[in-house]
Amino acid sequence: MRLHKTEIVFLGYAALTATATYLIFLLKQYLDNRIDVGYADLSALSDINSMLLGALAIMICGLAIAMLGIYPALRSALKERGRLSEVTQDLTKKSATYQHAALTDPLTGLHNRRYFDDAIEQYLQEFGAIDYPLGVVLLDLDHFKNINDTYGHDVGDDVLRAIARCLLDYTRHHDVVARVGGEEFAILAPNLDVTALNKLANRIRVAISEITFKSGEDCFQVTSSMGMTIWDGKEKAAALVKRADKNLYVAKTGGRDRVVS
Ligand code: GH3
Ligand code: MG
Ligand code: MG
Repeated sequence: MRLHKTEIVFLGYAALTATATYLIFLLKQYLDNRIDVGYADLSALSDINSMLLGALAIMICGLAIAMLGIYPALRSALKERGRLSEVTQDLTKKSATYQHAALTDPLTGLHNRRYFDDAIEQYLQEFGAIDYPLGVVLLDLDHFKNINDTYGHDVGDDVLRAIARCLLDYTRHHDVVARVGGEEFAILAPNLDVTALNKLANRIRVAISEITFKSGEDCFQVTSSMGMTIWDGKEKAAALVKRADKNLYVAKTGGRDRVVS
């Protein structure tokens, strides 16, 4: 068995203390015998004195070992442990940051497509066990390319950020809102039936169309098209999203600025 430096110092200290204790025990027995016999002479007193000196010397050694050996070793061990835990905490923080970055859209701060794909799988698993509806809305901005072409990419980015804020304002905390493409967003909305989800989607559509954007002297608005659907309780995530996407296509071809369910 390999002993740590602190353990060796500690065992030495324990051995010294035990020896001193034994010496004191012997001294007590010695005194008891002398008292029983009923006499004490000078040589007995000198024996006692030697034993006491021995015990005192050992105790002083023990104290020195404790102060010079055990305490510094303990301190350095604790420091080392403190440093290690700092490094571990730092790594944990970093990994949380990386994980957050990997699942977040940097432009809008919304969840990204990867997060959405994971979330939908997880929601399907959980909602498979209970009888609550789970809805998906896919939203695509209308003629967004024109905005970039007319006002520039930076203004286009501002529009995307404003749409993200609007989506967060109109959804509940347990809805998953994600940017799943350039000017495409998705909402995963539990516990709303088709009528309630349609109402929510239309409220968002109107809210988006009422935002006024400014670029220099120009003011403009943007509309959105949405395809939505409710999970049938059996289909896989890909099939559910595909149905919502088909409805989005119908909304686009039907004239845009509308919700199709
Ligand atoms: P539709 O109504 O059919 O959806 O027309 P659209 O112009 O919105 O669709 P299209 O797919 O033709 O163009 C999407 C545009 O979105 C093109 C691309 O430059 C722009 N886009 C994608 N990502 C970003 C981005 O991060 N920032 C900005 N500013 N524009 C982006
Ligand atoms: Mg698109
Ligand atoms: Mg578009």
